[in-house]
Amino acid sequence: MSIDTAVLEETIRRVLAKLPEASSGNDGVFVDMDSAIAAATKASREYLSRSLADRRRYVQAIRDCMLRPENLDYMSTQAVAETGMGDVSHKYLKNKIAAEGTPGVEDLVTEAWSGDNGLTTVEYSPFGVVGAITPTTNPTETITCNTIGMLAAGNSVVFSPHPRAKNLSLWQIRKINQALHAVGAPDNLVVTVAEPSIENTNAMMSHPDVRMLVATGGPGIVKTVLSSGKKAIGAGAGNPPVVVDATADLDHAAKCIVDGASFDNNLPCTAEKECVAVDSIVDLLKFKMVQHGAYEASAEELAKLEQLIVGPKGAKTEWVGKPASQLLKEIGSQVPVGVRLIICEVSKDHPFVQHELMMPVLGIVRVPDVDSAIDLACELEHGNRHTAIMHSKDVTKLTKMGKLIQTTIYVKNGPSFAGIGIGGEGYPTFTIAGPTGEGLTSPRSFCRRRRCAMVGELNVR
Ligand code: NAD
Repeated sequence: MSIDTAVLEETIRRVLAKLPEASSGNDGVFVDMDSAIAAATKASREYLSRSLADRRRYVQAIRDCMLRPENLDYMSTQAVAETGMGDVSHKYLKNKIAAEGTPGVEDLVTEAWSGDNGLTTVEYSPFGVVGAITPTTNPTETITCNTIGMLAAGNSVVFSPHPRAKNLSLWQIRKINQALHAVGAPDNLVVTVAEPSIENTNAMMSHPDVRMLVATGGPGIVKTVLSSGKKAIGAGAGNPPVVVDATADLDHAAKCIVDGASFDNNLPCTAEKECVAVDSIVDLLKFKMVQHGAYEASAEELAKLEQLIVGPKGAKTEWVGKPASQLLKEIGSQVPVGVRLIICEVSKDHPFVQHELMMPVLGIVRVPDVDSAIDLACELEHGNRHTAIMHSKDVTKLTKMGKLIQTTIYVKNGPSFAGIGIGGEGYPTFTIAGPTGEGLTSPRSFCRRRRCAMVGELNVR
């Protein structure tokens, strides 16, 4: 029997058209960056034809998927298991708040002018394909937060996760793709590569179809994206000081500082990294901190700790995000029950206050008065413009600190995490853009502002 070639070709074309899209097979994970970006580019074009109601449904599907208890459990336990950093219960809380609280489509508020010359609007419009680079310290929280924000804004996203969080990041991207596929979103709105690496990140950053870069990480990657020649958001390192003056409620301040500086074993870029306190209250503050779960290291323990956790380049990676109990055990100290934070009084030049350690170890510097405390806090923040905290009842000094330190987040009389919406007002984010000024990013941060002018008509005033 002979088969007509044209009929055969047509039949194959029809069968292929009915096959599911590639991503329903690979769930957004591609072997190389070029294929991942090609798929995300196709997806972003298809996404343009979907309605805002569709976008809302897709964002809700991501929230629902990430909030399933078994997924929250998995992300929290696996983040600690794979990266070796952080605290499971705190990661659970961070994952939950990222999925629940990251703003959605409602963040894109249109501006309008109407008058004799007609009607002009400015709308938030997508960039197209966004390249997002994510850190080890908040691997899944950042992927959830960036995905919701970037998709709500109408973009597709190519992720470059940290290689040390590879397995979990790939798992999460697959889950998000499955959730989006189930509600009929274009396939491959969220993609990555099977082997995240610096080479793949570089390929992503230089690809002409990636229109915007968003880097959440340390100073190296922020500098790299800002040198890319593309629109870039840099969410970089911090070294948040907490100032305590003589007017503060010391019991409350001590609890807030222990809570904030031990949260997720001090991994958050926003967590209290050093304390500057006035001489008249330092001893009482330390006493109260111990009552709330801190351990004050002796001079001998301080020397051993410094030897253990600080190297020529600052914090030693292998100790980042480890619990206080493990650090104390390693230097041969007794571990008090319930210890969450190690505190020690040091000079202002000590590495424990100069470097972003990301460990539950807090150097405390004693200063004569509140004005010297504010000046030193500004110095120790190193111009990162990231986060600062102050405990005081003196509004004049609270105001002075805020004006001088110029940080993106400034928390007054609370723990640092109140600044990202945990126990404080305002929405959460896990990409805090200090250097480039977007602040606490939300969907509008990932948009272009576009003006449409209708001349002469549509003004009904
Ligand atoms: P990191 O800088 O080591 O890595 C961040 C990301 O950048 C990773 O995906 C990594 O693979 C990539 N990367 C790093 N150097 C690169 C290079 N030269 N070329 C290409 N890719 C590169 O940071 P980390 O240890 O994962 O995270 C901790 C740091 O991130 C801390 O400094 C913390 O303060 C900061 N951080 C900032 C925010 C914020 O919102 N501002 C949030 C979380 C973490």
